[in-house]
Amino acid sequence: MPIHEKSLIRPEKLVEHEELVIEGMDVSGHWSTFIEGRSVPDYNETLQEEIAALPGGENIHRCWQCGSCTNACTVNALNPDFNPRYWIYLIRMGMEEELLRDKDIIWQCVSCNKCTYACPRDVVPEQVMKATSHWLELKGHTPKSPSMIFDEAFSEQVFERGKIEDGLVLREFFKRTGQPVTQPWLVALVSGLVKRFPVFYLMKLGLATVFRPRTRGWGKARDAIEEYVHECEERNRRAVGLGTKGAK
Ligand code: SF4
Repeated sequence: MPIHEKSLIRPEKLVEHEELVIEGMDVSGHWSTFIEGRSVPDYNETLQEEIAALPGGENIHRCWQCGSCTNACTVNALNPDFNPRYWIYLIRMGMEEELLRDKDIIWQCVSCNKCTYACPRDVVPEQVMKATSHWLELKGHTPKSPSMIFDEAFSEQVFERGKIEDGLVLREFFKRTGQPVTQPWLVALVSGLVKRFPVFYLMKLGLATVFRPRTRGWGKARDAIEEYVHECEERNRRAVGLGTKGAK
C-alpha cells in the first residue's frame, strides 16, 4: 500500500532495503519501503510524579487533552512542533523517550500565559512547561538555558547584597554565556543614555559599578534566603530521584 502522508512518519521509522528481490521481483530501494512498528517498550512510570513534584507541575494530572493550550500558544503559531498538549500527554503516559525527542524546544516557552487563560482545567500549562524544562535540566538531558543563566547571575547578586547592579548582571551573563560585552544593542543603549541623562545620574551609575550597592543589615536576610533556596533545590532533586548536593 502506498504511503500517502510520508511527512507524518518519523524518518527513522521508514525502512528501505537497498537490494531486495521477492519472488523474482526486484523491489529494491523505495519499492520496499515499510514502516517500523510504533511499540514503546520503556515507560517511565514515575514521569508524571516527578514533574508534578516540581514547582509548577502540580496540576498536570487535571489535563483532559482538549488542546486549548496548544491552540492558544504563541510559539506553536510559529513552530507547530511546539505542542504543550502533546507533551502533557507523553508525561502522563510515561513516554520519556518520546518527550526527550523534543527536549531542545520545550524550553522555548515564552511565558505569555495564553495557555493558562485558555485552559478549562486550571492545569496552568505554562507552569507545566517550566517544570518540564526544569526536569530536563535536573536530569542532565539539556544544558542550562540562557534565561536560567541570567536568573542565576541576577539571583546571586540579590542573595549577596540585597540589591542588584544592572551592568554587573549583564556582564556576568555575557561572561557565562561566552558572549562579547560589546553587543550592538548595548552600545546603542549606552550611547543613548549618555546623550539623554543628566551628568550626575551617569556618575551615579558609574560609581555603582565600582562601589556595588548593598542593603544595610543584609547578612541575616541573606543567610535565611540561602538556606531556603538550598532547601528548595534539595527538594527538587529528591523529586526527580537525584541524591543530595550537600549543604552550602
Ligand atoms: Fe490540558 Fe488544559 Fe491544555 Fe486542555 S488546555 S490540553 S486541559 S493543559
